Amino acid sequence: DSYIAAIDAANGALNAYVALTPEKAREMAKASDAKYATGNAGALEGIPLGIKDLFGTMDVHTQAASHILDGFKPKYESTVTQNLWDDGAVMLGKLNMDEFAMGSSNETSYYGPTKNPWRAKDSNVDLVPGGSSGGSAAAVAAHICAGATATDTGGSIRQPAAFTGTVGIKPTYGRCSRWGVAAFASSLDQAGPITRDVRDAAIMLKSMASVDAKDTTSVDLPVPDYEAALGGSVKGMKIGIPAEYRMDGMDPEIVALWEQGIAWLKDAGAEIVDISLPNTKYALPAYYIVAPAEASSNLARYDGVKYGLRVPGKDITDMYEQTRAAGFGAEVKRRIMIGTYVLSAGYYDAYYLKAQKVRTLIKRDFENVFADGVDAILTPATPSAAFGIGDQDMKADPVKMYLNDVFTVTVNMAGLPGIAVPAGLSSTGLPLGLQLIGKPFDEETLFKTAG
Ligand code: GLN
Repeated sequence: DSYIAAIDAANGALNAYVALTPEKAREMAKASDAKYATGNAGALEGIPLGIKDLFGTMDVHTQAASHILDGFKPKYESTVTQNLWDDGAVMLGKLNMDEFAMGSSNETSYYGPTKNPWRAKDSNVDLVPGGSSGGSAAAVAAHICAGATATDTGGSIRQPAAFTGTVGIKPTYGRCSRWGVAAFASSLDQAGPITRDVRDAAIMLKSMASVDAKDTTSVDLPVPDYEAALGGSVKGMKIGIPAEYRMDGMDPEIVALWEQGIAWLKDAGAEIVDISLPNTKYALPAYYIVAPAEASSNLARYDGVKYGLRVPGKDITDMYEQTRAAGFGAEVKRRIMIGTYVLSAGYYDAYYLKAQKVRTLIKRDFENVFADGVDAILTPATPSAAFGIGDQDMKADPVKMYLNDVFTVTVNMAGLPGIAVPAGLSSTGLPLGLQLIGKPFDEETLFKTAG
C-alpha cells in the first residue's frame, strides 16, 4: 500500500510507469503474507517490483512503449518475470522505456519521456533518466518500486543506472532467458536488474537467471549465490584499465571519477594493470550495423495482423504499410531502414558480415586480457552525467545520442557481464557511475568488487 501511494504521488510528474496493476499487487502481497505465515517465504517474498514494458506479462499491458502494440496483453509470462513471481515478488506495474528499447534517453517512448528524479544544483531543467530502461532507473531512484527489471542491448541497463545513482547489472549473454521479452537485437539482448544497491542487484539477478528450454541461447550453468560473494576481499585481484577508453576530449570530471575508482581499488589491495583493447574504436559503428540488422528482422512481425494496432488499407499490403507507418516512431523506423539496407543483397558482405568479423575481434581483445590474468576491467559507465530532456545537440544528430554507449556497447558485442555502480557526483550535483566488466559467467567477481 505504501508503494502504491508513493506511485500515485510521484508518477504524474515522473512518467515512470505506463501501466499500474494495484489489484494484482495487493493480491500477490496477500499471497506473500500467507507464505510468511506458513514459514515458506521465497527469496523475494512480498518485494514490490516494477517491470520494464518490454517483458511479456500475462493479461497485463505489454507494449514495449510502442504505438504498434496498442492494447496488447499477452497470454504468456516471460521466463524472467515468472522466475521473480515464483520467488514471491509482487508486481506494481509496467515501466516506461525507449520504444522497443531503441534509445539512450527514454525520449523515443510512445508515452513521452520519463523524467529523472535528479536535477542539477540551482537548475530547473528536467533531465533524462537515460535509456532505454529509463523508467526502471527513475522508478528505483524515486523509491516507487524496490527494484526493477531492465534489459541491455548496448548499455540500456548500465547507462540509466549511472544517470540516476542506481545499480544496474547486465549479466553474461545467456544468463537470463530472453523468452517472452520483445526482441530488439537477439544476439545482444540480456535482461538484468536495476536496484538501489549492489546487494539488491545480487539477490534479484539470482532470481531472474535460469536456463530455459524456451530460449536455446540460455546457458545451463548453476546460478551462484551472488549475495554470498559480497563482502569478499579484492586483495590481490588484477584490475585492468583499458588505454582505449581514455577518449579524446573526455570530460575531466569523468576522468577524475575513474581515477578515484582506481584509487579505491588500489587502497583495498587490488593490483591495477594497464591493458589494451585495440578494437574498441570499432565497437560503436559495428553495433549500429548488427543491432539495426537484427531489429529490422525482429520487427517484421508487427504487421497489423498478429498484434496490437491495425490501420485498415485498401488491400493487405496497404494495410501493412499504413499500420507500420502509423505504429512505429521515428527512431524505430530509422533502425529498420538501416537494418534492411545493411542486410540487402550487395551490401551484406560490406556491412553485416564485416561487422560480425569486427565483433569477433572485439571479443578476442577481452579474451586476451583475461588470459593474461586480469580479473575485471574498470571503466567509466558513461561519457557524461544526465543531460536535459529535448537536448538540441542530441536531437540534431542521432550519432551524438549513440555516443552515450561508447563505454558500454563493447560488453554486449563480446557477450560479457558488466555492472554500473554509483561512484560520485558531478560538480553540478548529478550522479556519475563507474563500470566493471567481467569474464563470461563470472558475475560473482563483479558483485564482490562493486560491493
Ligand atoms: N542506446 C542503445 C541503442 O539505442 C542501446 C539500447 C539498449 O541497450 N537497448 O541501441
